[in-house]
Amino acid sequence: MIPYSCQTIDDDDIAAVTDALQSSRLTQGPIVHEFEQAIAAYTESNYAVAVSSATAALHIACLALELGPNDWLWTSGMSFSASANCGLYCGAKVDFVDIDIASGNLSIGALESKLAKAKQAGCLPKIVVVVHYAGQSCDMKAVALLSKQYGFKIIEDSAQAFGGYYAKKKVGGCQFSDMAVFSFHPTKTITTAEGGVITCNDRILYDRLNCFKSHGLVFSEAMQSQEGGWYRDQAMLGFNYRMSELHAALGLSQISKCDQFIEARHLRALRYNELFKDVPQLSPLEISKYSKSAWHLYVLLLDESLPSHSRRALYEFMHQNGIGTQVHYIPIFKHSFFQQKGIEADDFPNTMSFYQRCLSIPLYPTLSSDQQTLVVDTIKAFFDEQVTRASA
Ligand SMILES: *Cc1c(COP(=O)(O)O)cnc(C)c1O
Repeated sequence: MIPYSCQTIDDDDIAAVTDALQSSRLTQGPIVHEFEQAIAAYTESNYAVAVSSATAALHIACLALELGPNDWLWTSGMSFSASANCGLYCGAKVDFVDIDIASGNLSIGALESKLAKAKQAGCLPKIVVVVHYAGQSCDMKAVALLSKQYGFKIIEDSAQAFGGYYAKKKVGGCQFSDMAVFSFHPTKTITTAEGGVITCNDRILYDRLNCFKSHGLVFSEAMQSQEGGWYRDQAMLGFNYRMSELHAALGLSQISKCDQFIEARHLRALRYNELFKDVPQLSPLEISKYSKSAWHLYVLLLDESLPSHSRRALYEFMHQNGIGTQVHYIPIFKHSFFQQKGIEADDFPNTMSFYQRCLSIPLYPTLSSDQQTLVVDTIKAFFDEQVTRASA
């Protein structure tokens, strides 16, 4: 079976984790700190806070921006539920913005018109979570302009975009956002098995994030000289969202190979683009001029003119032929939990159309040339069979 995604783990990674396991601290030690510094340096941000997952990262990013009941959080429906759940964890209300079909990213036009309407209705969002779909950055300058005009905060859900670029700068530098969140789940560009990080440039946000990730505890020399060396104060309601030393050791070992991983993904994506040129039934995602994708996913869009069951038939055909594919994503608002909140799928026609036609095919650094040829030939065989059947 060729999976749609696969982590790359080598002997250096294994040695790094083994060393961490033999060190005196398994958590709250120096490796997490070193990993955070490496992330900040890599993304050219001032600060990085490592946590147990991107989901945890999104949660405390919202808390750091003081999202609460009566506030609105907006995000793209074409994402993993975590992009929206973070708002609900804070008791806020959640709504969605339609996407551009060509890229799968949030549509700036849809955002702009939704903001204009929300302003009139007096329900502007406090936070917009911008998702960088498949590893390609959204048009952040445009989002930042709208944030100035309408006064919302921006969290980049860059879970899929670690190592990607926007306007010639690494995603995560937060030039056009308040914070950026990354995931190190094994399907993402680098992995810590489970893990995530938030980058930002603001010291106050950084302090709050650190506080929320570890039970809301704060301490200072002044406090300790008055009360005693043991003294810490729980200043707010926090969580245990810490990353362990073992996970950070894996991340630190992986980050040194990140650019290599992305280059390998990029080359494979270019080859797919080339090989699919003569397959009129599908198209790859459009890559914008302003971004360099981290190539988390290689997504195909089936042509609108194909019968509606085609995507499912292709998915099953690939599976029968030993090739894993996946649908990214079931629109968040389509899940029963969100349907109960009365969100209408009809309000997001592009997200629905994209969902009905998208399929992610295998893409990872160790995908061999032969495997890739097999993936493409299998897809071509599927369409040949369809055409033969249709004309019979
Ligand atoms: C993977 C992913 C997440 C969640 O990441 P975890 O680290 O698994 O919590 C959130 N948002 C998007 C867009 C993702 O792709």
